[in-house]
Amino acid sequence: MPETNRPKPLPVVTEENRPFWEGCQQGKLLLQYCIECQRYQFYPRLYCMKCGSNSLRWVEASGHGVIYSYTIIHQNKSPEFVHDTPYNVAIVQLEEGPRMLSNIVDVDLTELRVDLPVIMSDKILFCFHLLPKPDLCNSYLA
Ligand SMILES: [Zn+2]
Repeated sequence: MPETNRPKPLPVVTEENRPFWEGCQQGKLLLQYCIECQRYQFYPRLYCMKCGSNSLRWVEASGHGVIYSYTIIHQNKSPEFVHDTPYNVAIVQLEEGPRMLSNIVDVDLTELRVDLPVIMSDKILFCFHLLPKPDLCNSYLA
C-alpha cells in the first residue's frame, strides 16, 4: 500500500463560499437563499442559478435530509485515503431542496439505503448521520 505523510486535501475557501465553511465551523449548515425567487441553492455562487438575481442571503438550514443516493468506496489509490476504505459517499437531499455531496458517519455500511432520513452531524464538519428508525422510536414511546 502506498504510504504518505501528505495531508488530505482541504476545500478551497473563496469569498463566495467562505460563509458556508465558517458556518460549518460553528456547527451550522448555511445555504444561500434567493430573495427574488424564494429558492435555496447549494453550492455557493455569486448569483441565483434559477433567476440570475444576486439578491442572495445566507440562512441556516434545518440540517435534515434524506439519502438521495450513495456509493461505498472499497478502493482508493490516493495515498491520503487508502486507509479510510471502505467508506461511503452520499448525496443528501436537504429538506430545503438542494442536494449536497457528503458522508454518512457513525453507520454500519450495510445499513445505508436510499431515502433514509439523516441529520447533519454536530461533531464532524459537513457530514450527516442516520436518524433513528421511526419504528424504534415508536416502540420506545409506546
Ligand atoms: Zn432566484
